[in-house]
Amino acid sequence: MPALSTGSGSDTGLYELLASLPAQLQPHVDSQEDLTFLQDMFGEKSLHSLVKIYDKLLQYERQSPTPILNSAVPLGEDLTEELQSKPLSGESRELLRLLLKPTFKALLFVHDTVAQKDYDPVLPPFPDDIDEDEDSVKIIRLVKNKEPLGATIKKEEHTGAIVVARILHGGAADRSGLIHVGDELKEINGIPVDDKSPEEIIQILAQSQGAITFKIIPSIKEEMPVNEGKMFVRALFDYDSNEDRAIPCKEAGLVFRKGDILQIMSQDDATWWQAKHEGDANPRAGLIPSKQFQERRFALRKPTTLVPLQRNSNRRSLGLRRSFRLSRKDRKTNKSMYECKKSEQYDTADVPTYEEVALYKRHPSEKYRLVALVGPIGVGLNELKRRVLLSNPQHYGVTVPHTTRAKRSHETDGVEYIFISKHLFDADIQNNKFIEYGEYKGNFYGTSIDSIRSVMAWNKVCLLDAQAHTLKHLRTAEFKPFVIFIKPPSLERLRETRKNSMIISSKDEKGSAKPFTEDDFQEMIRMAQVTESQYSHLFDKVIVNDDLSSAYSELKKVLDRLETEAFWVPVSWLHS
Ligand code: 5GP
Repeated sequence: MPALSTGSGSDTGLYELLASLPAQLQPHVDSQEDLTFLQDMFGEKSLHSLVKIYDKLLQYERQSPTPILNSAVPLGEDLTEELQSKPLSGESRELLRLLLKPTFKALLFVHDTVAQKDYDPVLPPFPDDIDEDEDSVKIIRLVKNKEPLGATIKKEEHTGAIVVARILHGGAADRSGLIHVGDELKEINGIPVDDKSPEEIIQILAQSQGAITFKIIPSIKEEMPVNEGKMFVRALFDYDSNEDRAIPCKEAGLVFRKGDILQIMSQDDATWWQAKHEGDANPRAGLIPSKQFQERRFALRKPTTLVPLQRNSNRRSLGLRRSFRLSRKDRKTNKSMYECKKSEQYDTADVPTYEEVALYKRHPSEKYRLVALVGPIGVGLNELKRRVLLSNPQHYGVTVPHTTRAKRSHETDGVEYIFISKHLFDADIQNNKFIEYGEYKGNFYGTSIDSIRSVMAWNKVCLLDAQAHTLKHLRTAEFKPFVIFIKPPSLERLRETRKNSMIISSKDEKGSAKPFTEDDFQEMIRMAQVTESQYSHLFDKVIVNDDLSSAYSELKKVLDRLETEAFWVPVSWLHS
């Protein structure tokens, strides 16, 4: 069937099309009666007129004409006045007759209204003789069970009125949505309360069961929370309203992904908030599950089994500390060697819903934000870090780890490592000084929190190769970490791009460089997936290290932006 053309000058084509429709539809129409109906409908004059108007409007829209003036009425009046005061020629008389016609005046009036875009309805003026004392009252009926009402009242000192002082979030009154702070209570079950004390009223309430009728004068104050539209959150989970069986209206739901920034437009409803995607020009908000509701849902879900975070990886990449061999004992128990501050149990219990965020741009007097790089072994994270460091050693810095092993002749204390005794190392573990630590060939190695502080104290950007599970300890106002996940490309791309590369492996005692094996690639991808599935809500940026130099320039670009632009951070980092 030909498409309905709405282009200009298509009038005749359009009528022909409308006229031909019944014939075209004939094979699909069963009865003559239906066919006659269709013929009548498509032949209907008013339909043709409608199509014509529609067509004209479209043309009009395309031309987007702007009015030359928006005061044709006064102009018409002036002209009328002038014409009336002069002897007139035939044409001028004709013009005057036109100008005086009520239909023409009405046309000019409509013209002005459209030109001024003055479409709002005008409300009748407020009557002057209104009785000031007459308040509109509201009658509310609530069915009360054993549960308290969830509202507090107070007697206003100067007026003596009994007003609602507080509505407890999630309580019966709150859930009803009918009673608001500031409402004046006049009667309960027909008993006037003006002359009663709050205690007496509470008594009346406590004694009543079943339906209670309140007569109230609604508060005049607009109940607009000051925070409306001012709160932003980072979504810490994926949400698709189309798959949510609990949502009251699927069409009204907002779909979002983990990491999206949402502007909360209303939290009036305890279960369903209203939100928009940050920066979305469309003013319509959508429904999202409230924090409390989502937390409850997550808590009810069966905990999923976690894939162990740290496999007994015995790789060693170009940089440091990504390579610990597990001792035989550790291997047997498959226990992670990164024990400090690590708690996977806590990760699951820690139900991630929304995190309140605000835009933050570092003030020149503030320390640089910590840059935490996360990624699987062999992904090239250390090489990227090394390149950034070399690009400007005055500006970037890395932490100096602690170790209990003996200093080698070429090493300087405080440069390669801070060499300390086993005894001191143990004490530091006890005192939670390490962000992570591990054991290698009988010696301990660890990165202390203070080592991050000392890089930052030099007014440098500290680049930290971080274990994903340590992120939550680093996410403080002090460090304000910007977390970058370095992700491997696809398996095929890994094979293509890394076929001639070496990874430094500590499989053998010397820790020599070896070519990547297929196993290395698969392990890298698996680890990346595990990390991403558990921690992606904490990533500020993901960089795929497919081609090293493009990954490096992407990294450099984001690091530069970090110093000049504002980024979303948890609000808790800003007001402490
Ligand atoms: P080496 O004794 O040869 O300098 O280093 C032995 C191992 O310790 C290396 O595999 C290195 O990556 C690791 N290592 C160095 N510093 C740290 C650290 O701060 N934390 C952890 N977990 N390992 C480290």
